[in-house]
Amino acid sequence: MKTQPSITSASPLKRILRAGVYWALQPTFIIVSLYLAHTYASIDAHTLFIVVAFCLITLLEIVIPARPEWKKSAGENVALLGFVVVSGAAYAAIETFYEASLFTWMAHLSQAWQLDIWPSQWPIVAQVLLIFAAYEFVNYWYHRASHRWEWLWRLSGHSAHHAFKKLSGLNAVANHPIEAFFLILPRAIVGFLLGGEAVGATFVSLTAVTAILAHSNLQLNSAVVGWFFTTNRYHIHHHSKVISESNTNYGCFCILWDRLFGTFQDAKTNDTGIGDSQPSYKAMLMMPFKR
Ligand SMILES: [Zn+2]
Repeated sequence: MKTQPSITSASPLKRILRAGVYWALQPTFIIVSLYLAHTYASIDAHTLFIVVAFCLITLLEIVIPARPEWKKSAGENVALLGFVVVSGAAYAAIETFYEASLFTWMAHLSQAWQLDIWPSQWPIVAQVLLIFAAYEFVNYWYHRASHRWEWLWRLSGHSAHHAFKKLSGLNAVANHPIEAFFLILPRAIVGFLLGGEAVGATFVSLTAVTAILAHSNLQLNSAVVGWFFTTNRYHIHHHSKVISESNTNYGCFCILWDRLFGTFQDAKTNDTGIGDSQPSYKAMLMMPFKR
């Protein structure tokens, strides 16, 4: 009978790689992102870092996956990529729509009310961590509401993001196109209430790389970084098939608010998804329109 290779039977090189990834990958990515902010690196540098981090995570998921049974076939990867491209196109279109309407109005109102209370004299790294936590604060309550209220769960299409049985870094951006209407808002609300647009762009790499890691099929340590940053142990638990487990760990980037508001849970996750099998992409796209 064929059995899955265990960690202990892996080659010495893979064991070293596993140990390096387990202890160092997430802290290293956090440090690189904050270093880019500290040196006032260009947006292009942050974007390049996101692309390199994503490629590295994807490569590691192939070589040393935490759950070998979650490795996707070529067909599954192409289908997921197609879903992500459709979702990304919708995100860009809805962002343009917001920029021309709601965001312009919010910017005028913010100026008129002189709402910009952002502590721009703080060190840039402190500002990035502040906007990271503030952004998650708004996102936390939207995310928690989308799980709490059935109408929002359906209307937002958030169920599509939870429908996947196999998770990987790419799942971070596998959202229903309609959910872009909701996912774009937290950043705009933080900008409206606090200001901080100057550092808004530099926290993108920290947010993006944390989200990719949170969905990754890699064994990562949660002990230290997991006090503030969301790790995949916590976020995969949020993707649990068991509803009481899924109604925890709403922080996709920063786990602080779950710890403060009593929704944090640190436990093993057996199965993910919203059913025994993964729905078709057509069924996922129809989710906001069906009960
Ligand atoms: Zn969720």
